Amino acid sequence: MIDGRVRDLVRRRANDRCEYCRLRQEHSRLTHHIEHIVAKQHDGSDAVDNLALACHRCNLQKGPNLTGFDRGTETIVPLFNPRRD
Ligand SMILES: [Zn+2]
Repeated sequence: MIDGRVRDLVRRRANDRCEYCRLRQEHSRLTHHIEHIVAKQHDGSDAVDNLALACHRCNLQKGPNLTGFDRGTETIVPLFNPRRD
């Protein structure tokens, strides 16, 4: 469980924008999510460095995935990491 202070910190750090598509919270009807960059199921932690603000759509599309399949190169590639990329 992520506490309220950590949630506020993640929102402020992201300037209330989705860290993947940059959608502003004020331009979305749905509340942005605090998401784990490395999902809990892959041993991701609740540390602030592993958390990102994500809009509903980005959070649903990313899910717990760490990689995606690039049809152009037919290779498996790491997903964008807002802390590293
Ligand atoms: Zn987004």
